[in-house]
Amino acid sequence: TGPAAAQEVRTVCCYCGTGCGVIAEHDGRRITAVRGDPVHPANFGRLCTKGSTLHLAAAPGGRALFPELRNTRTEPRREVDWDTALEAAAERFAAIIAEHGPDAVAFYVSGQLLTEDYHVFNKLARALVGTNNIDSNSRLCMSSAVAGYKGTLGADSVPACYEDIAVAAHLLIAGANPAWAHPIVFRRIEDAKRANPELTITVVDPRRTETAEFADLHLQIAPGSDVLLYNAMLHVLLWEDLVDRDFIREHTSGFDALRAQLAECSPGNVAAACGLPAERIVEAAHRFGRARAALSLWCMGLNQSHHGTASNAALIHLHLATGQIGRPGAGPFSLTGQPNAMGGREVGAMATILPAHRDPADAADRAELARLWGVPALPETPGLAAVQLFDALADGRVKAVWIACTNPAHSLPDQARVRAALEKAEFVVLQEAFAGTETAPFADLLLPAASWGEKSGTVTNSERRVSRVRAAVPAPGEARPDWAIAADFARRLARRLGRPADGFAWADEAAVFAEHAALSAGRDCDLSGLSHALLDAQGPQQWPFPRGAATGTARLFTDGRFPTPDGRARFDPAGFPRRHALLPEPTDARHPFVLLSGRLRDHWHGMSRTGKVAGLWGHTPQAVAGLNPVDITRRGLRAGQLVRVAGRRGEVVLPLAADATVAPGQVWIPMHWGAATLARPGANGLTSPATDPLSKQPALKQAAVSIAPA
Ligand code: SF4
Repeated sequence: TGPAAAQEVRTVCCYCGTGCGVIAEHDGRRITAVRGDPVHPANFGRLCTKGSTLHLAAAPGGRALFPELRNTRTEPRREVDWDTALEAAAERFAAIIAEHGPDAVAFYVSGQLLTEDYHVFNKLARALVGTNNIDSNSRLCMSSAVAGYKGTLGADSVPACYEDIAVAAHLLIAGANPAWAHPIVFRRIEDAKRANPELTITVVDPRRTETAEFADLHLQIAPGSDVLLYNAMLHVLLWEDLVDRDFIREHTSGFDALRAQLAECSPGNVAAACGLPAERIVEAAHRFGRARAALSLWCMGLNQSHHGTASNAALIHLHLATGQIGRPGAGPFSLTGQPNAMGGREVGAMATILPAHRDPADAADRAELARLWGVPALPETPGLAAVQLFDALADGRVKAVWIACTNPAHSLPDQARVRAALEKAEFVVLQEAFAGTETAPFADLLLPAASWGEKSGTVTNSERRVSRVRAAVPAPGEARPDWAIAADFARRLARRLGRPADGFAWADEAAVFAEHAALSAGRDCDLSGLSHALLDAQGPQQWPFPRGAATGTARLFTDGRFPTPDGRARFDPAGFPRRHALLPEPTDARHPFVLLSGRLRDHWHGMSRTGKVAGLWGHTPQAVAGLNPVDITRRGLRAGQLVRVAGRRGEVVLPLAADATVAPGQVWIPMHWGAATLARPGANGLTSPATDPLSKQPALKQAAVSIAPA
């Protein structure tokens, strides 16, 4: 898919990780229309409501246009030129590094950055500043899937691809609502069901979502009980000899240890905790174990949990025990939340990973990367993951933070704590396309960034497919591409630190990508054969795509070998059915409801883009607290009245809605509304800062709350 005709540019939707190809029409100044790219393999011309209104979301208004700086917290920011802005930033960062060391500064980046942006920030943090304090909002999104894949398969490598949906005999959709959150993936699911009425679909979700309505079997589990459910399903598979003993023997390790623990995890034993009849668990196990090819699709319901790694591992164990991996229609397949969370994982721009799936705790990996980057050494001290990073800002260990393309004053849990941390910080840089985000008031330096349609690079979608993102129109005001801002700052900081700056002098995005791709040679995610030129000539490609390869790789582990030292996949103890506290905080008499938070169909994150499109407000016009009608009656409430939803960390006032998709004892609040629209933090004023001990992903999905008339 080469460049389209004049006044048209082929690019990729900037919302979810489906990664749909878009043709953007423009007049040289504005993007005037969009349509789905008919030859892009992620969507073949289809777009959902969000993607098909990208041109409206890209309309002028609400943008950060010029650098703004303030010298003290008591004065407003004033417009300055780029030189002044970046010199001020370099001076403050250099001074803090000199006085307190490199770990006194941090970078908090985003799964919405392009791969090239990610690469420059990562090299800036690790190779120049010398800190592992770089994390991404992908920590809130996919880090439990990363830990689950690494523990079981040996690397953060998604084995399956979209084509598998069409050839699967069974879909297990767990903790995901693709009908709303990945609509074009859901169109594939609908197509598969139409083409193959024998296809069975099980959905595991505490809510009866639109996806659950579509399924043959909906397991409306108690929140947080998924790890028990998958182990109980495996218990059934083992008991009824529906496992693949040859596959287990030849391609895995650790099964005996898991089997010893599964004895206690019968459907009868876990049914009450899961909130399900035991026979439904047995039925789900039969559907999975008897299927010719079983594919599981999952998202935040598994990941955003304080035992997210365990849930991921337990789900992947189902595939390893049945040999449902590495062949058409079979495999575990995490759906990426953000458009380029996968690219950020390849780049390694997160505290717990290095480029090309290297490990910052591994001395050999650090040494190899230092050699490739031409620096003496890379830092050893573990970096701070998102929640811990903001804790460190609050207690003064981290004094300056550079935030790029994300809105932590909306999206992190326990907003009171996050906001206190941003107030305490000595210096906050915000690199952002939109002026009105909840984080903007905390910024001492605001740097205007180019946005979708204005910048070029690459992204990687859920199925490991790398696509070109292309600029159609100039960025407004003085906004610049994110990678260029980071590289400019790095050169200025290098001079102040007395270090060489030539490692940050790329000619363009293609040169940044070339450096990133070279780092991956010989790794499991080898994409050293890719370049902007090849992607322009041959269209989007799936990694691995090593140098010299003719094509990418649709699915992984087809030979039964895994990237572990012995080549075997592992039954990871992290996913064994040990006693897990199901919820990060228990409900009690004062906080008797479990809060569930999540996405709506037509909005994206804090609505900086989608909020500008009138047509996207029709589906859900306002934030509401959704409660089961039984609870509304029982509590003497009525739909439409204002209620105060209060937790242990904050409260929010919202209209009450009768919502039969929510089970009794739970309340559902969409995550899109925050302080900018509600005058106080929304769902994340209530959510828990508890994190998974392995993945460090916060448990954004569950918190204990009360509900009372406002
Ligand atoms: Fe964009 Fe996702 Fe919709 Fe595709 S499914 S058009 S990537 S929001």
